[in-house]
Amino acid sequence: MDIHTQLYRLREMLAPVLDTNAFYKQKLTEAGVTHPNDVQMLVDYRQLPFTTKEELSTDQVSHPPYGTNLTFPLERYTCLHRTSGTTGSPLRWLDTAESWDWWGKCWGEIYRAAGVTSVDRLMIAFSFGPFIGFWSAYHGAQQLGALIIPNGGMTSDQRIRAILSNDVTVLIATPTYALRLAEVAEQDGLNLPEETSIRVTIHAGEPGASLPATKHRIESRWGARAYDHAGATEVGAWGVMCEPQAGVHLNEDEFICEVLDPETGNLADEGELVITNLGRVGMPVIRYRTGDYVRLKSAACECGWGSRVLDGGVIGRLDKAVIIRGLNVYPATLENIVLKFPDVREFSARVYGTGTLDELEIQVESTHPNPAETATAVAAAIRDELGLRAIVKAVPLETLPRSELKSNRFTDERHP
Ligand SMILES: [Zn+2]
Repeated sequence: MDIHTQLYRLREMLAPVLDTNAFYKQKLTEAGVTHPNDVQMLVDYRQLPFTTKEELSTDQVSHPPYGTNLTFPLERYTCLHRTSGTTGSPLRWLDTAESWDWWGKCWGEIYRAAGVTSVDRLMIAFSFGPFIGFWSAYHGAQQLGALIIPNGGMTSDQRIRAILSNDVTVLIATPTYALRLAEVAEQDGLNLPEETSIRVTIHAGEPGASLPATKHRIESRWGARAYDHAGATEVGAWGVMCEPQAGVHLNEDEFICEVLDPETGNLADEGELVITNLGRVGMPVIRYRTGDYVRLKSAACECGWGSRVLDGGVIGRLDKAVIIRGLNVYPATLENIVLKFPDVREFSARVYGTGTLDELEIQVESTHPNPAETATAVAAAIRDELGLRAIVKAVPLETLPRSELKSNRFTDERHP
């Protein structure tokens, strides 16, 4: 969708927002925008103020429980979700019936791009807590007409059995949990590629499915193609991986997307993703600083969809780059190095200070007959690829934590 049409939709949204949404009415008025027609051209759009997570969070703290970013009276809203709170305090987010259908439509793009149709049988492998991801995936699958296999509250073993007995064809999970399920199945003596019908896996919550090492691992364990997807509670499901899998499309039919140099704020090929959603009038975000660090591809995608493509999906979180002895290290980069080793089952990393020096320590579970050899090889790979010395230790299998939600393999003990 071109910017002209996007701005038309933005003006349609601004009409009620400028009228009744206290949060944006004040913010936009202060920036000199009092009427939808004040945003006619791209140059006008780029004058709009940014919205930050901190600002939304502060607003909810001072106006509990939902803040003032509400365009309609509370009775119009039908769904409540909450962010995971991995960065900052959790945000509560409300949707109306209309905006919830819009979420489903955005998920429809994710399914269709991965070749998922109404004949598929889906397992959305989560316990369905207050986080929006699985609920919206569920709503999108219902709109698509696919069969959804319930699995909340099940153990990993029970989920594997449900996948087998229902001939599930599509698995939706975090990359870590997809690997955990595969591990459990292998311990039960199952050969997943031969014994299940799973042909597509769809992932979010962690960058893993765009990291070559993790993606390869998921695909070979399941005998399926792994698709990445990206989104956020406050924003929507904005990232879509299409069949050629050459990156993650920005869904520019439903979102206005900018990539900005975090230092200068100028448009750039690589930088922070800033998004306005166009289908969530009841509780929108306008020029929202996602904190996601991304890189745009210059070439158009061969799938034919005109929307731009991010090389490698979300490369990292701006707030999560860790500086170790002067080097900027993203947990995702580290994951891609460590999980390239087929013997590594799971790992965890911590950074701590010894007073004068920062140390990076990594624990690995290895299936190698001599796990210490894996540890040595991982340390060498980190030294080669990052120029960083790390202490790598082998630990017994099944000792490190696995999670069905966002995994937290990285802890920084210098800033508790
Ligand atoms: Zn494409």
